[in-house]
Amino acid sequence: MAIENLQPIVEGLGVAGAPLIMAGPCSAETEEQVMDTARQLAMGGVKIFRAGIWKPRTKPGGFEGIGSVGLQWLRRVKEETGMLIATEVATRKHVEEALEAGVDILWIGARTSANPFAVQEIADTLQEAGKDVAVLVKNPVNPDLELWIGALERIYNAGIHRLGAIHRGFSFYGKSIYRNPPQWHIPIELHRRLPELPIVIDPSHMGGKRELVGPLAQQALDMKFTGLMIESHCDPDCAWSDKNQQVTPDILKIILGSLVVRNTEQTTESLETLRQQIDKIDTEMLELFGKRMEVAREIGQYKKEHSMPVVQESRYDGLIKSRVAAAVNMGMSADFMKTVLQAVHEESVRQQVEILNK
Ligand code: PEP
Ligand code: MN
Repeated sequence: MAIENLQPIVEGLGVAGAPLIMAGPCSAETEEQVMDTARQLAMGGVKIFRAGIWKPRTKPGGFEGIGSVGLQWLRRVKEETGMLIATEVATRKHVEEALEAGVDILWIGARTSANPFAVQEIADTLQEAGKDVAVLVKNPVNPDLELWIGALERIYNAGIHRLGAIHRGFSFYGKSIYRNPPQWHIPIELHRRLPELPIVIDPSHMGGKRELVGPLAQQALDMKFTGLMIESHCDPDCAWSDKNQQVTPDILKIILGSLVVRNTEQTTESLETLRQQIDKIDTEMLELFGKRMEVAREIGQYKKEHSMPVVQESRYDGLIKSRVAAAVNMGMSADFMKTVLQAVHEESVRQQVEILNK
């Protein structure tokens, strides 16, 4: 089904030169924390304030959100700062209470968008309420574009025309520099399929670390996504949830100020796409190096247990020969491949020696 005739999430934002920026704490914790953060963000020019009231947690025992009382704090943010307010909803009760409190933008979290029953319940509640509210649907935790589109369709079918998507990366098992690695080709394909749909990027949940927020935000703008949702807290180190990825409003201001919004008149699009591919390949390469080193350490452990020396010359020579030949076949120089393999081998040896001396 077509998702068309959409209206902007917020008039005047998300258009060229004016990305839609939403910022605020992962969770509303206390009235003071909410107001302090909100005032600073508003002074820094942020127009949309986000805060989680109901928090889906991976394991029981974490902070599950302050609950309904937080809605009154958001209301106060709206009255005192003029910012629009946004929160996450996952159930009928959440939607009803958020609408009642005048929340302007609802978002559906990644764990909820993966569940069609939950999304349909939200859609039904929205349809019954018949209010003009904006709804953003985060990608499901798993990289399933159809499931994501299905969730968007359910909300759209409920009569929501101020609709958008949020890419927050996908969960995975293993090691990565990201908390939820982005898979840019998925939102890019979403854009191809639903060209009218605004797509916001959430670098905070993607990166999981403060230092990745800026670079990921720049990548998002380079790819011409509609906007950014960034977690910001007046005292991140003391945050009750997601403290490693939250930045102070001051830092957020610096990050936003340093972002380059590309001139849409210039046709650098294909160059950007190619650079994105390079970024993606480099990340994959790093992850592969990481995996290779893990295996090398396992081999180191084996050698230790069997009192074997770290380097076996014959194995090393054979490895270099076959890899260099393959590289030459692929159009790379033999020297280049030798240099790379030598560096990789040196690092493997270093890792194995570490294991041996443990
Ligand atoms: C959030 O935005 O605070 C959140 C819980 O995000 P996600 O659903 O992307 O994990
Ligand atoms: Mn969070």
